[in-house]
Amino acid sequence: MSVEDKTGTLLEIDELRVWYELKRLGFAHAGYVRAVDGVSFNLDYGKAIACVGESGCGKSSLMKTVLRLNKPTEGSIRFEGKTINGLKGEALREYRSQIGYIQQDPFGALPSFMTVRQILSEPLAINGIKDEDEQMRRIEAALTEVRLTPVSDIINKHPHMLSGGQQQRIVIARAMILEPKLLVADEPVSMLDASVRVEVLNLLKQLQTDRQLAIFYITHDLSTVRYFSEHIFVMYAGQIVEIAKMDDLLDNPKHPYTHALLSASPDPDHKNALEMREVPPGEPPSLVNPPSGCRFHPRCHFAIAGKCDHEQPPFYDIESEHRVACWLFDPDENHEQP
Ligand code: SF4
Repeated sequence: MSVEDKTGTLLEIDELRVWYELKRLGFAHAGYVRAVDGVSFNLDYGKAIACVGESGCGKSSLMKTVLRLNKPTEGSIRFEGKTINGLKGEALREYRSQIGYIQQDPFGALPSFMTVRQILSEPLAINGIKDEDEQMRRIEAALTEVRLTPVSDIINKHPHMLSGGQQQRIVIARAMILEPKLLVADEPVSMLDASVRVEVLNLLKQLQTDRQLAIFYITHDLSTVRYFSEHIFVMYAGQIVEIAKMDDLLDNPKHPYTHALLSASPDPDHKNALEMREVPPGEPPSLVNPPSGCRFHPRCHFAIAGKCDHEQPPFYDIESEHRVACWLFDPDENHEQP
C-alpha cells in the first residue's frame, strides 16, 4: 500500500462552538447546552493529538463534529485547507471517506447479523468500490494489517464468534479500509482487558507510523495517552484549559484541573495509591448554565476571589507549544502556582 508523504496541517479547528438547543433535545424551556465552547487546535499530517477530560466535558461532541455527525454552531473546521462546516451530500461523503472512526464498544459497533466480510465490504461499496475481486483484495490487506490471520479463519465469522480484542481489530480494519488520512479513536481500548489494550495501542502506533496516519485520540484514561500522541489537550466544561506536547503536559502540568486529573489517575507503582489520590471536589458543572469567569473556579483550590469567578482567563504561553488558560500564569501578577 503506497503512502503519500505529506507534511503540514491536516486539521484546523478554530474557535469551534457546538451548542444544542434544549427544545430540540425535548426540554420545555429555552436555552442551550454549550457542549463545545470556543475550542481551537491543529493536527498535522501523520501526527497524533489526545483530548482528555472527564465525562461530560464536551470531548464526544467535539469528536462528532470533526466527523461532521454534528454541525458546528460557530467557528470553523478545515481539513486539508478546505472548510467542511457546511458540506452536504457527495462532498460530505467524500470528506468522511478520508476519516476512519474507531468506536469505544466494538461489539456495539459491529452489526451482529453481518459476517466480517460483509462488514468490511460495506464501506467499499458505499464509496464506489463494487468489484468483488478488488473488495476481497482490500479486505485481505486490511485484516492482515490488523494482524487477524489467517484471513480464511475470520472472514466468514459473525462478531459474536470473536473475542473482544478481535472485534476491536475488525473495527480498526473497517476504519482503515478506505485508506483514511485521519483516524478518530474514541476511547478505543477502554472496554478491553488490560493485556489486549497494549496490543491494540501498539497496533494503532504501528498504523500511525506505517501509514503516516494522523490520529485524534479521545480518552479519559491518562494511562494510555503517552503511547502514541505527540500533543495533548485537556478539556473542562466545553473548553480547552491546557494544551502542550505530551511529555511537557504529563511531566510538568500547569492548570489546577490538569493537576487534579493527573492526581486522580490511579498509579500502580504508587504505595497506598488510592489513599493518596487528590481528586477535584464537587461535580463537573452544568453546560447549560456554566459558572461565570473560569469554569473550574467552584472546584479550584487556587481560585482568586473576585477574579476567577468573574473573568474568563486568556491563554498564557508557558513555553514552546505549552499554553494554559489560568489567571495564576498572568506574567504581571505573582500568584502561587500548583
Ligand atoms: Fe483556578 Fe482561577 Fe486558574 Fe481557574 S483561573 S484554574 S479558578 S486559579
